[in-house]
Amino acid sequence: MRESLVFEVWLLLVLLALALLLLWMGLDPILAVLLAILPYLGHNLFYLGRLTLLIHRRHRMAPPFPRGLWGVIYRSVARHQQSGRKRRKRQVRFIRRFREAAISVPDALVILDRHQRIEWANPIAAELMNVHWPRDEGSYLTKLLPHDRLREFLAADEYLRPIELAPEHNRALTLLVRITPFGERKRQRLVVGRDITKVFHLNLIRRDFVANTSHELRTPLTVISGFLENLMDSPLTPENHRRPLQLMSSQAERMRSIIEDLLTLSRLEMEDVTTWSEPIDVPKMLRLILDEAGLLDAGEHKLVEDIAPDLLLKGNRLELRSAFSNLVFNAVIHTPSGSRVRVTWREDEDGPRFAVKDNGEGIAREHIPRLTERFYRVDKARSRTSGGTGLGLAIVKHVLNRHDARLTIESEPGRGSTFTCRFPMGIGLERSEFHSHDSPQSH
Ligand code: ADP
Repeated sequence: MRESLVFEVWLLLVLLALALLLLWMGLDPILAVLLAILPYLGHNLFYLGRLTLLIHRRHRMAPPFPRGLWGVIYRSVARHQQSGRKRRKRQVRFIRRFREAAISVPDALVILDRHQRIEWANPIAAELMNVHWPRDEGSYLTKLLPHDRLREFLAADEYLRPIELAPEHNRALTLLVRITPFGERKRQRLVVGRDITKVFHLNLIRRDFVANTSHELRTPLTVISGFLENLMDSPLTPENHRRPLQLMSSQAERMRSIIEDLLTLSRLEMEDVTTWSEPIDVPKMLRLILDEAGLLDAGEHKLVEDIAPDLLLKGNRLELRSAFSNLVFNAVIHTPSGSRVRVTWREDEDGPRFAVKDNGEGIAREHIPRLTERFYRVDKARSRTSGGTGLGLAIVKHVLNRHDARLTIESEPGRGSTFTCRFPMGIGLERSEFHSHDSPQSH
């Protein structure tokens, strides 16, 4: 920079000397100044014109650069151009990498604009979702992948849970479709379709296997239980055989409970959605469950109820009875005698809520997330002796899922546990809303 300034000053001094020389030679002063300034003007015009042309034509500024202040300007522009080129190269590389990643993901990716028309899709979307990009750009996804569920899912604009569907263009396929709002003001949609055909079939095989095995075990078990009962009732049975027979009979009963629970779970898994038509008289149902719970522990627990007498619920009667009774019986079975069990059925601003709170021993924090797994028990030995199958909470979770409800478990060792079922708004109804000629179901 300093060097350029010095050069510029030298240039001006040379021109000044030239003007003085011309004056000394007797030239008219105006003419002498003009003659001295002209080369400087030409020099500046030349480099200004060249710079304008280079910028206009987007040419690359390359050395050799002029000397003086023009050199500083040329070099700065060249530096600017170079950093811009590097930035662009980085962006191109990033976009290329992003594209490659989007192409190599095994899931179908489709971007929808705010009118739910296709903007972009990766190649696998052609196979999985029948979307061929760029051919189908601007088409509606629901036209290329027609499915009632997908239409409802997109229209609902609420994408908390993914949906499963068998696409029309390939019925052998099972897709798990997730939608995420993104982009400017979250108006675009990213649709991700995953091929879950294998998992779906494996699940089907597992479900059928469990259902068939349970079903097949039922008959031999009934026969064994029958003979055991006969033997226990017979006066010919030696006294010292009675105790083993009793143990065998109670174990057979336990096996029967497990089989029944496994069959219930299979049934819950087999039907996709539950029947919603029945308005259920939950207060009446709960009273029956509480009576049964009282019999279960021979009145040793203190059962307290806080039940809204006129709050009914739309749902599946058998399923809800199974879920509610599992929670109430658990509170009785898994707490020491003398414990207090409070059953609440109320509606608050979030919707209807069923809760069972006990002041038993509680459950350590690490067990809580796993309680709804099949056969997961905190204390295996104790649960077995208390007659538990380890399937109760798995059934509860399934039933609630099918009613769009949620199970929350709060527990503190030494202080007790609370199991809460939260139902969505709109499925609870007041008894008065319900006409007496359609008497609600309860048991
Ligand atoms: P189980 O047939 O053994 O009751 P569940 O699935 O209903 O099976 O429950 C799983 C486990 O959760 C139980 O074995 C028990 O250890 C624990 N549990 C459930 N409810 C309670 C409760 N109210 N208090 C303490 N532990 C509980």
